[in-house]
Amino acid sequence: MEELGFSAADIFELEPDAGLGNGGLGRLAACYLDSMTTLEIPATGYSICYELGIFKQKIVDGQQVELADNWLEPGDSWLIPKLDETESIRFGGKVSTRWENGRVMVDHTDYTTVMAIPKDMVIAGYGTNHTNILRLWDAKSPDPVDISLYSSGEYLKAVEQQAMAEVIAKVLYPDDNHYEGKSLRLKQQYFFVSATVQSICRAHRLQYGTLRNFHHKHVIQINDTHPTLVIPELMRILLDEEGYGWEEAWHIVTHTVAYTNHTVMAEALEKWPQQLIETLLPRIWQILVEIAGRYQRELNAAFHGDQSKVERNAIIWGGQVRMANLCICACFAVNGVSALHSDILRKDVFRDAYQRRPAQFFNVTNGIDHRRWLSEINPQLDGLIRDCGGGDYLLHPESLSKLEDFQNDSGVLSRLGEIKAANKRNFASYVARETGVILNTDAMFDVQVKRLHEYKRQLLNVLHIVYLYQQIKSNPHFDMTPRTFLFGAKAAPGYYVAKEIIHLINCVAKMVESDPACKDLLQVVFLENYRVSLAEKLMPASELSEQISTAGKEASGTGNMKFMMNGAVTIGTLDGANVEMYQRLGDENIFLFGLTADEVVETRQKGYSPYEYYNHNAALRAVIDRIAQGFNGCSFNNLTNRLLFSNNGGQPDEYMLLADFESYRAAHERAGHVYRDPKAWNKIALLNVARSGIFAADRSIQDYARDIWDVPVRDLSKVTVRGTKKK
Ligand SMILES: *Cc1c(COP(=O)(O)O)cnc(C)c1O
Repeated sequence: MEELGFSAADIFELEPDAGLGNGGLGRLAACYLDSMTTLEIPATGYSICYELGIFKQKIVDGQQVELADNWLEPGDSWLIPKLDETESIRFGGKVSTRWENGRVMVDHTDYTTVMAIPKDMVIAGYGTNHTNILRLWDAKSPDPVDISLYSSGEYLKAVEQQAMAEVIAKVLYPDDNHYEGKSLRLKQQYFFVSATVQSICRAHRLQYGTLRNFHHKHVIQINDTHPTLVIPELMRILLDEEGYGWEEAWHIVTHTVAYTNHTVMAEALEKWPQQLIETLLPRIWQILVEIAGRYQRELNAAFHGDQSKVERNAIIWGGQVRMANLCICACFAVNGVSALHSDILRKDVFRDAYQRRPAQFFNVTNGIDHRRWLSEINPQLDGLIRDCGGGDYLLHPESLSKLEDFQNDSGVLSRLGEIKAANKRNFASYVARETGVILNTDAMFDVQVKRLHEYKRQLLNVLHIVYLYQQIKSNPHFDMTPRTFLFGAKAAPGYYVAKEIIHLINCVAKMVESDPACKDLLQVVFLENYRVSLAEKLMPASELSEQISTAGKEASGTGNMKFMMNGAVTIGTLDGANVEMYQRLGDENIFLFGLTADEVVETRQKGYSPYEYYNHNAALRAVIDRIAQGFNGCSFNNLTNRLLFSNNGGQPDEYMLLADFESYRAAHERAGHVYRDPKAWNKIALLNVARSGIFAADRSIQDYARDIWDVPVRDLSKVTVRGTKKK
């Protein structure tokens, strides 16, 4: 390509991100596909071939504007259509059952058909010829519109069919950690699940001539509750198409499906209105009623008629179908995604189920593909690791610990510092090129990038920044380590408060920028359109990683791991996987602050009063008053009121920013002090890289393979990989 006058890097840069997910959940699935392939596990990923992925974010006058992300236009070169593996999916209509030859026959009439066309992407592993497939289902109408059907009334139906089919794969719902009870979303879920289960069953029948051994050959791992309908859909196929009895079908299903829970946020738990399922999926509804009825009888017996427990665990209740309870009922394994989160599932969210069947519950702490998130994006750090004896780390991430031997080696530490400085300059020139903004590379890069959500507490970060600003302005003795605060976050388009927080960040950024007192001391930049390709550029340049969610709310986090692997030091709460980072790092190598998950619950029970913190902390009060006052005509009263007062039944300061503010401020002060001693800082950074091997996706996938899937993985003990990489 160079001979033709192209640079490979420029061509890679042209490829659009496949924006097929919202945030951490989708990125995790992508890392796991890479890792399963490298570990030679025969696995297929399934999703929808969304025409429009997660929206593109523009910032106009400090506020988020959403643009359509038509990623397929230039990006479908990697997708191979498999027209002969098309499946057809039925929606609506009427269902009746009758006896025939000693078995129940199901008649489904008047339904609408949507065709599911597979578009396959081949996934390559590292150092292996093994490949896996990511199969994306595209939706098409079965009939081209046939004008001749018009007079018989079929024309309208054909048009209707076409319209419904075309809209199913049109757009990804942009909410992260939030459930949208929309009919189109349910259509997407059933479309995706039905196509997938039919496709797996078709291939299985072809190979074995029966589905009786299905559960011996497959595990279906469902990624959060979004694909829960695989449970009744697989039942439907086994009952209606294979003619198996209920007990046999149920045995197969409950030995096939496993469930990963990814959140404990109440607003994210899927509860579908019964009436929506009844009309859209009449046969699935009948099967759900049978599953729920049997389960309820089982619960009644197990809980000796304790109605509050029966109600809490019911699948269908109060006109709603609760997907998490269905998963608990039908899945042979349930896992959380960090040690803390799995504990919360066992002790709180699913405590009744855990007491009945403790062996059903597992933990698999999340991990990231370290080949992408370290080697690929940070070639200089890759080189240092190799020079320090970690040459085999691509297939043996635990070898990152070889760096530990150099924790007091000034040469290695200063080289690590130089690498970070070079990565910062690199990122700064990218930002300058793209936006014209000049980042202060002499300041500490203090970064919070993730979806915008109140529980992730970007607002706590802003409170601290305004505090620093006020100190700079009012306290002549204030001595701070220069900081460049970088934010990146998309807000769900309908999440008003999240959008206000983005606006606030941009207003604060502007105020700081236009104040000469902040020059070379304080800078705030909101990076537009945070996405995987931007994360890949940013992680190597980051120095302080903000992981500041209210303890107990972030199931794991994976952004935290990307930062750690690239030598950024965490300022964070004891939440999600931060807990496991802390266990390996100790107090000296992470800046911990805030209430623990237990203390959050305790404080709530005692009656949390944020106003007390406001009253007793003058600096905090000044910060909140300043934000309430607003910035050049834009009011943020709504945000500060949410911190201080309960409005329409909600609790004030639901995520306890005020309770954690002082401890957060002090942790920042400690980080600032350590940063002034480059050798001390670089040592902490080095130990973060050295101890990050446990957060490689390969470790997570080996946990799934051993504890849940019971499949062998590639034996890496004898594999050596050449340590030759072009620098
Ligand atoms: C890793 C990643 C996330 C997840 O970040 P968290 O901090 O764990 O929420 C979200 N978005 C993108 C683009 C990512 O790469």
